Amino acid sequence: MPDKDMALLQLKELVEEVTNCTKCPLAQSRTHVVFGEGNLHARLMFVGEGPGKDEDLQGRPFVGRAGQLLDAMLEAIDIKRAEVYITNIVKCRPPNNRVPAPAEARACLPYLRNQVAIVKPKIIVCLGATAAKYIIDPNFKITQQRGQWIERKGYYIIATFHPAAILRDPSKKKPAWEDFILIKEKYLAEG
Ligand code: SF4
Repeated sequence: MPDKDMALLQLKELVEEVTNCTKCPLAQSRTHVVFGEGNLHARLMFVGEGPGKDEDLQGRPFVGRAGQLLDAMLEAIDIKRAEVYITNIVKCRPPNNRVPAPAEARACLPYLRNQVAIVKPKIIVCLGATAAKYIIDPNFKITQQRGQWIERKGYYIIATFHPAAILRDPSKKKPAWEDFILIKEKYLAEG
């Protein structure tokens, strides 16, 4: 079977598994599982914290105000949303958009690992402190450590502010923009 078809099949099986998942308490309050979406062979993957209200209602990642800002930032560096893959640490919405509990994140992380193994991105961007903590380092300090490349297991990984944090605090816009320039440079270099 060609690699492309194999990846599609693996992803379909994973979607089915995640859609029926009840491994953590977030299953009880969700409207939809938000698996993630995008280019199955994306070179660039974005990982956020978890679905918000709009995402939970629609079953799609980054579709609310923060998602619109992410789309605009991608457009500004001339990358189409359809080129990349977008997902979250947890696939179900934490009530009132609270930070996922460690047990919830741990229960859900194997799904993210499988997504990464199937999509095989070259670059992984952690959107916000929660993603950076679970992907890069449990003690990650987003304000101090964002915008720095890490090479691990063949992936280039970087963290920047979550778009929702930029909306809450516009002073984060400039450093986030600087991070997106770095992401664009790496994307072109790894093309
Ligand atoms: Fe399963 Fe993840 Fe949803 Fe928890 S957040 S129920 S582990 S899919």
